[in-house]
Amino acid sequence: MIHNNENKVAGIYIHIPYCKTRCTYCDFYTLTNESQIDPFVNALCREADMRKEELSETVKTIYFGGGTPSRLHQNHFGQIFDTLFNRYTINADAEITVEANPDDLSDDYIRMLAKLPVNRLSIGIQSFDDDELKFLSRRHSARQAIDAVRKCQDQGFRNISIDLMYGLPGQSLELWERNLDQAITLNIQHISAYHLIYEEKTRMYSLLKAGKIRQVDETTSTAMFSKLIDRLTGDDFIHYEISAFGKEGCFSRHNSAYWQNKKYVGLGPAAHSYDGDNRSLNVASLNRYIKGIESGIPDRSYEQLSLNEKYNEYILTGLRTMWGINLKELKNRFGEQFFQSCMENAQKYLDQKLLTREEDTLKLTRDGIFISDGIMSDLMLV
Ligand code: SF4
Repeated sequence: MIHNNENKVAGIYIHIPYCKTRCTYCDFYTLTNESQIDPFVNALCREADMRKEELSETVKTIYFGGGTPSRLHQNHFGQIFDTLFNRYTINADAEITVEANPDDLSDDYIRMLAKLPVNRLSIGIQSFDDDELKFLSRRHSARQAIDAVRKCQDQGFRNISIDLMYGLPGQSLELWERNLDQAITLNIQHISAYHLIYEEKTRMYSLLKAGKIRQVDETTSTAMFSKLIDRLTGDDFIHYEISAFGKEGCFSRHNSAYWQNKKYVGLGPAAHSYDGDNRSLNVASLNRYIKGIESGIPDRSYEQLSLNEKYNEYILTGLRTMWGINLKELKNRFGEQFFQSCMENAQKYLDQKLLTREEDTLKLTRDGIFISDGIMSDLMLV
C-alpha cells in the first residue's frame, strides 16, 4: 500500500547478517556461511508480518543494512518487498536504501537493483588505496570501487553514498587527502567517514595488542578530521552530522530520523527497534532468531529507558547534528530541572566558544566538534 501522509512517519531497518568474508576491524553480527539464507528471508518476512501492528504510521524510510545486503538475490528482495508493501503503509516517496559492497556490484546485479523500489545505495568503499584495502581485508580493489559507483550512476542511481575510513595505522595525511579527492571526483551525493575504532574481539584489536600495528597519533587524527571537513564542505557537501556529509537535499533521511528520536522497527537478527519510548533488540544469533520467529515467540529483549536515559539520548543524538538541541523542546519534554542542568553544564563550553546558543538551539561550534565526546558526556546525567 502506498500513502502520502507525511505527518506521522517511521522507518524500517532490515539487518542482513551475511558477508562473503570478515573484515579485520568489524564487530557487527554477521556470518560467512550463507546456507541458511532462504530460511532467514522467510523468517524476516514472517517477522515483518508479525510486527505490522507496531507501525500504524506511514513508513518513510526503509534501510537494508548489515552485514552485506548485496548478498541477497533477486528472489529474496522480491519476497521482502512484497511483504513490506502488502503489510505496511509505505510513503510514495519513501527513501529505500541498500548497503552494497563493490565486489557484489556486477553489471547484472546493479541492473537487478535498478528494477527494485530501491532509490539510494550506500556503498562500502572505505579506501581508494589497494594496500589499505588489503590491510582492512576488503574484498575489492580501488578500481572495482570506482567502476561500481560509475556503473550504478549509469543505471540511473542518483542518490549514492559511500563509506570511507580514516585513522588507519600508518596512514599519512597525504594518503587520506588522496582518498578524499578521489571520492569527490565521483560526483556522489553523500559520504560517511569514520575513524578506525579498535573493537575488542576483532583481528585489528589483536594486532594492536600484539604490538604489530600502532594507532595513529592524536595530532594526525585531528588533522585528518579537519581535512575531511575542509575538503568536503569546500565541495558542496554539508556537514550535517559528525560522520555524515550530504549534498543539499541528499542527507540520509533514515539516519536523520534516528537522530531525531523517531520510531523505527528493526527486523532480522541483532536488529534494534525504538517505539518512541523504549528500545528492543532481536537476538544476535541466526538460529535462535529463526527458531523464535517460527515458534511465534520472537527471541527479543526489551529495554525500558529511564527519564535520565531518554534525556541523555536526546543530548547525544541532538548534539551530533548540525541542528543541535532544541532547548524549547527539551524543556517541554523533560522539564525545567533538566533544562537548568543542561544549561549549567553547557556554560563553560559556551564561554570557550565550543558550544553556541542561537535562540532556542544549542549546538557544537566547529572547534567543539573536535571534542564532541567530552562535551556530550559533560552534558549528560549519570
Ligand atoms: S563487509 Fe561490512 S559488515 Fe561485513 S565484515 Fe566487512 S565491515 Fe563488517
